Amino acid sequence: MIVQFGSALIELVLGDITTQEVDAIVNAANSFLAGGGGVDGAIHDAAGPEIIKELARRYPDGCPTGSAVATSAGLLAAQFIFHAVGPVWEGGGKKESQLLQSAYETCLDLAEQNRCRSVAFPSISTGVYRYPVDLAGEIALRTVATRLESTQQIKLVRFVLFDQGTFGCYSRILETMLV
Ligand code: ADP
Repeated sequence: MIVQFGSALIELVLGDITTQEVDAIVNAANSFLAGGGGVDGAIHDAAGPEIIKELARRYPDGCPTGSAVATSAGLLAAQFIFHAVGPVWEGGGKKESQLLQSAYETCLDLAEQNRCRSVAFPSISTGVYRYPVDLAGEIALRTVATRLESTQQIKLVRFVLFDQGTFGCYSRILETMLV
């Protein structure tokens, strides 16, 4: 599914983010930037061991929840990895929605600062961090669509969704945004 917002596109695909040919891919990292399971493990496995070293060297204090930091992309086709730290879902009363929105916004800021034309996101926080996919998808898609209405720099944002349930949920939300 592909939809135009401003002069840019939002695309939803079912697949693996590590193989995407875009300028930047986003990682769902933890605040220690220490590597983990899920999409984080897959990205570090595919990009190679230099990325963990670069993270430790450039960001020894880690990254707060709701923010993101940039590194090179090692063996990946992308030029950059943006390591975003989404919130752990704790029922919705711990500013999770603001923190998730801010994680996406920081990645979009990094994309603009690094002159990226294309960025691929996973579904941040909806795995081990247990954020409900319908709520997270709404924030992800609205935050990106709002930015695409106002930026000339980013031309494509691709959401790379790893399972059919997440892909279906994001697709339904994007459809409701068209009417
Ligand atoms: P978080 O800790 O932020 O919840 P996870 O990595 O546990 O991060 O999960 C985030 C989402 O990324 C989940 O939907 C998970 O299925 C998905 N995911 C896992 N591996 C990949 C991959 N290789 N490409 C894209 N998405 C992935």
